[in-house]
Amino acid sequence: MAGSTASRAAGPKKAEQSARARSRPAAAAVAQRPSTGGVLQLLWREGRISRAEIARRTGLSRSTVSEIVGDLLKTRLVAEVGDGASQGGRRPIVLQFQDDAYGILGIDMGAAHVAVALVNLRGQVIAWEHRSHPVRTDPVGTVPLMIELSEACLRQWKLGTERLVGIGIGVPSPVDPKDPDGVSEVVMPAWRGHTVGEALRKRFRVPVLVDNDANLGALAERWWGAGRGIDDFTYVKVATGVGAGHIIRGEIYRGASGVAGEIGHLALDPQGELCLCGLRGCLATRVGSRALVARASALLQDHPESTLAGREVTITAIEDAALGGDPLALQVVGEAAEYLGIAVAGMLNLMNPARVIIGGGLARLGELLLATLRRSVSGRTLVSSIAPTEIVTSELGSRAVALGAATLILQTALADLRHFRNAAAGN
Ligand SMILES: [Zn+2]
Repeated sequence: MAGSTASRAAGPKKAEQSARARSRPAAAAVAQRPSTGGVLQLLWREGRISRAEIARRTGLSRSTVSEIVGDLLKTRLVAEVGDGASQGGRRPIVLQFQDDAYGILGIDMGAAHVAVALVNLRGQVIAWEHRSHPVRTDPVGTVPLMIELSEACLRQWKLGTERLVGIGIGVPSPVDPKDPDGVSEVVMPAWRGHTVGEALRKRFRVPVLVDNDANLGALAERWWGAGRGIDDFTYVKVATGVGAGHIIRGEIYRGASGVAGEIGHLALDPQGELCLCGLRGCLATRVGSRALVARASALLQDHPESTLAGREVTITAIEDAALGGDPLALQVVGEAAEYLGIAVAGMLNLMNPARVIIGGGLARLGELLLATLRRSVSGRTLVSSIAPTEIVTSELGSRAVALGAATLILQTALADLRHFRNAAAGN
C-alpha cells in the first residue's frame, strides 16, 4: 500500500523539479542513465524483484536493465539475494532494495523547539533528538542547535556521514520558491538576513531542502500515515501556530509564492486581537498555544477547582487536564475546536479534500477535539463538500514534520541516482 502510494508521490513532477535542481550534488557520484530513476523507484516500491521482472514491467531491454542494475549495485542501494522462487533448477537471483544502506536527516524547526530524526530509506526512525528552544526569536542560537542535534543523531548510527543522502528542514513559515533557504520576514522578523539551510549544507556537504512544516506534515502522512492512498487531502497542524498543507493530485500544493495553506491567518474577527502577522483576529489568535494558555489563565479566576489551579499553565498542562476530564480545560479545547471548525469549514468549501488530517500537539486529544470540530464544521459547510470528507487525527503524531522533511529528500533522491555515492569507486 505504502509502495503504490509512494510510487506516485515519488514520480518526477513539476512541483519537485526546482527542488531537484537546487539539491543536486555538486559532484555526481554515479552517472544517471535514462530510465535509472524509474528502475530505482520500482525497486524501492517492490522491495525485491528480479532483473527479468524489471525488464517486463518497464519495457526496457534486458541489457539496459543489467547496466542500470550494475550502477545500483555499486551504490549498495540494492543487493543480490538468491531466494527467488525456484523453477526446479538453480534458484534465480533477485534484487533486494537495501533500506538501511543510507540515512536521511529530517529536521523539525518548530516555533519553540528543534527536533531531528535520522531515518532510513523506508521512513523508519533510527535516532531522534529533541530540544525546546525559542526558535522564532533566536536564529543565531537555532542554527548551531540544528547542527548539534544532527551530529548527536549521526553518532548513534553505524554508518558514517558519507552515507547521508541529504537534510530536509521544516520551518513554521511559508517558504518562497524564489528564496528557498529563507523564512518569511512577516512571520519570523528576527530571521531577517538569516538563512536556514546554508550552515548545514557547509557542515555536512549534502543537499539541504527547506519547506513549510505543514506541507511536510502532509507529505509524511501521504507516504507513511493517514494520507496513504489518498490523492487529495489537507493536513492541519495545530501547535504554537496553525498551518495547513494541501496534497492535490498526490503532490504538495504550494501556491504561486509558497503561501498556500496559511489557514492560521484567516481572519475570524476583524476587530480581534493583534496577530504576529500584523493583522487582527486571525485563527491563530484563538487556537494557537499562546491563545489557549491565555484563555485558560483567564478562566481560572472563576474556576479555582480546576486541576490547572496553582500550577504553571502551559499548553501541555491544558492538554493533560483535558485528557483527565477537567471541565475548564475541556471548555478551552472545545472553544478552540469551534473556531478551528470555522476555518476548516471554509477550507472544505474551497478545496473539497477527501480527508482532513489534524496534526500538531493538540491532535493528541483525539476525539475530545474531533467531536466538537466535526460538529462545528458540519454546521457550516455545503452538504456536497462535507459529506464525503473524513476528519481524523495524524498517525505520525509529533514526528510528522521531521519525517516529512526526510521524505522530501527521499522523494528527490529516488528520482536521481546521483544522490547516492558510488561505494565501489570509494567516493
Ligand atoms: Zn495572523
